[in-house]
Amino acid sequence: MTSDPKIWRATVLTLFPEMFPGPLGISLAGRALASGLWALEARDIRDSATDRHRSVDDTPAGGGPGMVLRADVLAAAIDATALPQDRPRLVMSPRGRPLTQARVAELAAGPGPLIVCGRFEGIDQRVIDARSLEEVSIGDYVLSGGEIAAMTLIDACVRLLPGVMGKLSSGTDESFSDGLLEYPQYTRPQSFENRQIPEILLSGDHARVAKWRLAEAEALTRSRRPDLWAVRPIAPETRNQRKRPKNTTDG
Ligand code: SAM
Repeated sequence: MTSDPKIWRATVLTLFPEMFPGPLGISLAGRALASGLWALEARDIRDSATDRHRSVDDTPAGGGPGMVLRADVLAAAIDATALPQDRPRLVMSPRGRPLTQARVAELAAGPGPLIVCGRFEGIDQRVIDARSLEEVSIGDYVLSGGEIAAMTLIDACVRLLPGVMGKLSSGTDESFSDGLLEYPQYTRPQSFENRQIPEILLSGDHARVAKWRLAEAEALTRSRRPDLWAVRPIAPETRNQRKRPKNTTDG
């Protein structure tokens, strides 16, 4: 692991450090990790337990099922990292603000986050408040722990770091980068089970291809993600095309 303070770094607090790097050690993120374009540190929360059983959890105050991660143990684990204040402090949580590509881009542009992974029924609220942890959700469903959610967030950030995607893609032409889902992609063979690549993509006419792709991206976004479509920033060149008479809707 590189100790260069200028390298983007993810510091993960977890009860299962052996889950890391996991999928982050493979392919694009893994190659970038091996070549020192980013750094990963997975720390065991249990190392901050103080009793002889190394307990990290206890029963919920007020009753109910399951166990809750203790505030004192988790606070000690966070403090032991001695991270500079400029590192964002996140906790993965289904109650958090949903992760977006815009937030991912902000996190990728910074020094890299501290990420707390919850387990059990969750985390004592007092440590979330006392250590100003930002709650981040990766979607409206419940996982059994925060590790896979943390990996998701880290993977999304790492591919935006300078040098990671190289010339493969700039990340600016992808879903969400301009408020749209991406247009459909095709590759050889030209005919697959009697389905053809759209003629226009084989025409070599870059302007027509770009226009077709924009139209496809807009149609997909409008039908699948009306929430994105409603708040999409309108590019100046399409602003006039999007104007509608007052008594019609945007579809
Ligand atoms: N009782 C909690 C609730 O209903 O909100 C769920 C706890 S869940 C079983 C255990 C841990 O998994 C959470 O503390 C969190 O770290 C992680 N987790 C589960 N779902 C998540 C999601 N959608 N996004 C981010 N983290 C999640």
